[in-house]
Amino acid sequence: MIRISRPIARWFVQARYPSGTNLLPILMYHRVLAEPDPLQPDVPHQALLAEQFKTLASAFNVLPLHEAAALLQNGGLPPGAACITFDDGYRDNHDLALPLLLEHKLPATVFVATGYLNGGRMFNDSVVETVRRLDTGEIDLTRVGLGKRLVSDVASRRTLISDLTRAVKYLDPVERDAFCEDLCRRAGSHLPTDLMMDDRQVKAMSDAGIDIGGHTVHHPILARIDAATAEHEIETNRDQITTLTGKPPLCFAYPNGKPNLDYTSAHARMVCKAGFQAAVSTAVGVASDDADPFQLPRFMPRERSAAQFVARMVRMATHRHRQVAD
Ligand SMILES: [Zn+2]
Repeated sequence: MIRISRPIARWFVQARYPSGTNLLPILMYHRVLAEPDPLQPDVPHQALLAEQFKTLASAFNVLPLHEAAALLQNGGLPPGAACITFDDGYRDNHDLALPLLLEHKLPATVFVATGYLNGGRMFNDSVVETVRRLDTGEIDLTRVGLGKRLVSDVASRRTLISDLTRAVKYLDPVERDAFCEDLCRRAGSHLPTDLMMDDRQVKAMSDAGIDIGGHTVHHPILARIDAATAEHEIETNRDQITTLTGKPPLCFAYPNGKPNLDYTSAHARMVCKAGFQAAVSTAVGVASDDADPFQLPRFMPRERSAAQFVARMVRMATHRHRQVAD
């Protein structure tokens, strides 16, 4: 990764960032890997995250999400404000990201889907880990509308992962689990059961000052389940996090998070009623004055160099699509 010095990064942000505006870029991460994975090129590895965090610590004013959301509402955000979030509750957040957050004294929120803690595996990881282990040859995926596919090199596996993830994501949860189980069987070997944190790791992150946020129990697409089940998912997850950490979660992230497609304004009202102070979506953008505190947009930094990362932060600051659920 090309390094730029901290004073240059700071100068660039001060010179190019829109001044006098109330802007809140919220970065969204999921996993962080020890080494780059050719099958998951968009997932940052620890060295890349270290560079991004160094840049954030030197050139930006990183705030806890609940504080930043409150400041955004009363117009009091400091210049260069930013927030860091991680979704789902991966074990690597504890093992690889936490030491970096502590080293750079950066606050962050980790949104935990409590149903997968202690040995669970999310369907997207079942897809990646199965496709990684498939023998070279043909696989019949007519059940999910993908026909017969040839699995061979890294490129074919990467395409299959993205097609399968898209095809399976919006299936009924029971059918999705059944399909994933069937898929895992085809891999013919055991899939990892240590991808997510255990209770002790969640508690350790919370004790280290990281905010643990709500993300439902089973990570359902809220717009695809009935209201009572959605409310139960949100409230049970809140209660489980409170028991685990000793603190009620303050912020919430909608699973999958696309406004209207994955959640609606009815779910935003449920989250508010459950006692959360703010919530984030996956609408791409930077929150400003007119943002709904229960539908704050985020973005995923995919840049490979610190210079590109700073340029993206500045570019995103002028990206003002209002993307909220009706
Ligand atoms: Zn998630």
